[in-house]
Amino acid sequence: MERFTGSFTQQEPIPEEGIAAAVAVLRSGRLHRYNTAPGEVAETALLEEEFAALVGADYCLAVASGGYGLGCALRAVGVASGDAVLTNAFTLAPVPGSIAAVGARPVFVEVTDDLTIDLGHLERMAGESGARVLMLSHMRGHLCDMDALMALCNRLGVTVIEDCAHTMGASWRGVPSGRHGLVGCYSMQTYKHINSGEGGFLVSDDAEVMARAVLLSGSYMLYARHRAAPPAEVFERIKLDIPNVSGRMDNLRAAILRPQLKLLEDRRVRWERLYRTLEAGLTETGGLRLVARPEAEVFVASSFQFLLPDWPEGKIRALIARCAGRGVELKWFGAPEPVAFTSRYEHWAYADPVPLPQTDRILAGLIDMRLPLTFTPEDAALIGRIIRAEVMAVQQSGEEAEVLALGD
Ligand SMILES: *Cc1c(COP(=O)(O)O)cnc(C)c1O
Repeated sequence: MERFTGSFTQQEPIPEEGIAAAVAVLRSGRLHRYNTAPGEVAETALLEEEFAALVGADYCLAVASGGYGLGCALRAVGVASGDAVLTNAFTLAPVPGSIAAVGARPVFVEVTDDLTIDLGHLERMAGESGARVLMLSHMRGHLCDMDALMALCNRLGVTVIEDCAHTMGASWRGVPSGRHGLVGCYSMQTYKHINSGEGGFLVSDDAEVMARAVLLSGSYMLYARHRAAPPAEVFERIKLDIPNVSGRMDNLRAAILRPQLKLLEDRRVRWERLYRTLEAGLTETGGLRLVARPEAEVFVASSFQFLLPDWPEGKIRALIARCAGRGVELKWFGAPEPVAFTSRYEHWAYADPVPLPQTDRILAGLIDMRLPLTFTPEDAALIGRIIRAEVMAVQQSGEEAEVLALGD
């Protein structure tokens, strides 16, 4: 019987160019982004300039984490304590967490079978809650119909902030993810598309929103050392009104990230190859539903999802156990208790979530898998064969009761 022996959590090393640049920063001792020698431009300022150019944004701010970036964006667009903020019910904990962190209240919107936000439910919840801001999470890299979403939000007067933690390098009808809404936010945490351990970006074309974000991030009165920030006069107007909520990027991480920006498109292509290989291996597996990928979407497949619609819990547990036994690590969004990175909306008790039957039904059968770039296409093919064989075996064996008992 075939077994997979790779690690689902092993990312690629930092490119040598990034290691050399990081060592140079360490040797200089000037790690703080505003600690520059005369005439020197900080690595952080250069990183922002390069990322702004990459996605075609007027402005970019690098910050300490993706979650910090989301909270900073909410504050910068004017979300205040007690406000309702719409967001996806299917997302990761830092998203509702960022809303709670500014004292606001997450209002969850149902997910569709395509794992994107349900636009009908979004409209209903916008009306019911009176929320003026949507924190749109492109969870696991699935983009909704961005043209329809923006038309709806423009009609409703809802400001869109995009959580692009899983869509850096992706696009919808040629527009980079993060460039539809007023602000786009990204993460450079180890499991995302470029890796500095922790880190985040905000991008926007709105000068005042971006000046507020820069001041919030802890720029003191040194904002003139940025290169992808609005002109000084925008800061002059507001600099005394914005609190310093320190969450800056530093030059060490910026040095590690800059060479990775150049690799983003190559990584996207390699990820797509892994994804398509796995997808082909699982096509027409009875009981297993693949997620449709729209033609308008260019995606970055750092993870893979499939659905086991209407499977009883015991059978799903049996499948996960069997795959684990052959070295294939599957995550399940239907587990009653949150495990590792995987929790779902009903676990976020602080947000007082109301039940969402459609999301419950879909997440009950949703399986998720990391796809690190240390895997080869041959690895992806092997993983596909293992999952396919085990799905078929569980379907035929009526194994559920036995494994349920073991689980207790
Ligand atoms: C990782 C992630 C974030 C940001 O998280 P950080 O760990 O703070 O960088 C935001 N949204 C989603 C969906 C994520 O997966």
